[in-house]
Amino acid sequence: MTLAETTVFEALESNVRGYCRAWPTVFDTARGSWLTDENGKDYLDFFAGAGALNYGHNNPVLKQALIDYLIGDGITHGLDMSTTAKRRLLEAIRDLLLVPRGLDYKVQFPGPTGANAVEAALKLARKVTGRTTVLNFTNGFHGMTLGALSVTGNAAKRAGAGVPLVHATPMPYDGFLPGDDDFGWMRRALDDNSSGLDKPAAVIVETVQGEGGINVARVEWLRALAELCSARGILLIVDDVQMGCGRTGPFFSFETAGITPDIVVLSKSIGGYGLPMALVLMRSELDQWAPGEHNGTFRGNNAAFVTGETALRHYWSDNRLELATLAKGERIHAHLTALTEAFDGISTRGRGLVQGLVFEDASQAGKVCNIAFELGLLVETSGSTDEVVKLLPPLTVTEEEIGHGLGILTRAVEIVRDAH
Ligand SMILES: *Cc1c(COP(=O)(O)O)cnc(C)c1O
Repeated sequence: MTLAETTVFEALESNVRGYCRAWPTVFDTARGSWLTDENGKDYLDFFAGAGALNYGHNNPVLKQALIDYLIGDGITHGLDMSTTAKRRLLEAIRDLLLVPRGLDYKVQFPGPTGANAVEAALKLARKVTGRTTVLNFTNGFHGMTLGALSVTGNAAKRAGAGVPLVHATPMPYDGFLPGDDDFGWMRRALDDNSSGLDKPAAVIVETVQGEGGINVARVEWLRALAELCSARGILLIVDDVQMGCGRTGPFFSFETAGITPDIVVLSKSIGGYGLPMALVLMRSELDQWAPGEHNGTFRGNNAAFVTGETALRHYWSDNRLELATLAKGERIHAHLTALTEAFDGISTRGRGLVQGLVFEDASQAGKVCNIAFELGLLVETSGSTDEVVKLLPPLTVTEEEIGHGLGILTRAVEIVRDAH
């Protein structure tokens, strides 16, 4: 790579660019769990588009469906007009996701990003309840628009808003306060007329916090939250943008806890192929939207409907992907546990195919990611001080690729610890 080849990024592209700084090369092609840069160097991808590529890069089954659709001059841009591709997607959602799980949800197509879907969910919760406050959780991440930022924890991201972020009140996520009696404070504040906490419209929660550091909520904690909300008429919004679509095993991450949220937000891998798409699912009686009340030009990304539908039919007609994800997750967890036994100051946590290696000395996590990149593995950090190396391979990752990636990760940890 000559400097001239990279200059246009530095000269022209805004300073806001981020991942290209962590991974300073120019990527050219990608297949399955691998990316290849312009020099022909291969990188194993344990980042998977931050969870947008659960079925891998250029998945051949999805690609063929997309090619056939494009060649047939299928609708590409459709606003929210009814199209053949949307009908097929809705039927697949009904037959493969909702009916088998006994879920009575209506389906909203917001703008095609997670943040836009979160905005829609917050608006709807406020409209339906007539209340303004939303409870969110420490270390939560819900997107970068104002409403989504108001329920996001990270101070640096919040600071970018430039205006006060209001109408949200943070509560401790599971594990935030060691020894905390779950929801003791929240229950008390909700029930005490002098607590100063206005009755909230909704609670928004991730079952596993992806950006916040792979914090895994216990199923008992999630169940207690669901009960608390339902007993007090507070809507429960599960943000399944990153942990949905099978990341933790089942299609919806909340299935593990056996809870039924009032509203579910999906994006990232719901389009299947890395194409932009998002959904809001809401209990049918909550569907009190007026026509066009939350609209947007790119709600009808029909190419994503085709790959999203194909992904549902190919991967979610049975439980094979779920079982494989759990088994692969167990394997990675066992390897990371062995690493924590071999080195002091490291711990591990995760669920399914989202696993984290947590460093007491946060700076070591970033160093591990940098060395992993040099050795041909893409992993990123997460957590409030970037103390967690986050492993997020495509769910379609092979056993051989897992072994290869864990080998590089182990090597990177050894190098960082030897230098110490
Ligand atoms: C990525 C993410 C979002 C935001 O999605 P965008 O498409 O980046 O707007 C919201 N919530 C969670 C949990 C996410 O991981």
